[in-house]
Amino acid sequence: MNNKKGRLFVVTGPSGVGKGTILTKFFENNKNDVCYSVSMTTRKPRPVELNGVHYFFVDEDTFKKAIENDEFLEWANYSGNYYGTNKNFVLEKLNNGINVILEIETNGAKKVMEKFPDCISIFFAPPSLEELEHRLRGRNTEDEESIKKRLEVVKSELMMIDKYKYSIINDEVENALNKLQAVYDFETGNKNE
Ligand code: 5GP
Repeated sequence: MNNKKGRLFVVTGPSGVGKGTILTKFFENNKNDVCYSVSMTTRKPRPVELNGVHYFFVDEDTFKKAIENDEFLEWANYSGNYYGTNKNFVLEKLNNGINVILEIETNGAKKVMEKFPDCISIFFAPPSLEELEHRLRGRNTEDEESIKKRLEVVKSELMMIDKYKYSIINDEVENALNKLQAVYDFETGNKNE
């Protein structure tokens, strides 16, 4: 029997910094002993997004019932929508020795870091605020109001950068990916085959 617990990784950083792209590539290279925690959200799905893969898309009533039922490890209201991490999913994986990666915004990350002091927190930072705005606009997934809301929170998010165990500047995806892999390998003692 495997008594070794999984490690909890918290990946955070401003919207548009490229967390999702880096993690998609990370999971292509890391298929064993690690899983992604699919969050619940009240945000409307983007055209490419699939229910149960990118998020569990729900209405506000369903989300609020899940809060009442204590289903979340953490949840946050970000840019007008709710987002939350399923507690049972994460705890079950960790208990079974599977490493779990949460990709969440900074308020949720703070809550998880308080509850799990030995989690591995990783902050992805943009090379500059201008570049972040450029990426957010280039993504073409948000309307102007949502872009503005997202950019407003970035400065306060960047001020918290020293609270994380690791910070990685996403200048080039391959660079950032290599750094994430190095952190993962170091923290898990993994040799990637
Ligand atoms: P998006 O709408 O761009 O998919 O996500 C907006 C922000 O919410 C991103 O920073 C994303 O990482 C974060 N997020 C996604 N799922 C969760 C979650 O379960 N909890 C929290 N606190 N943030 C989340």
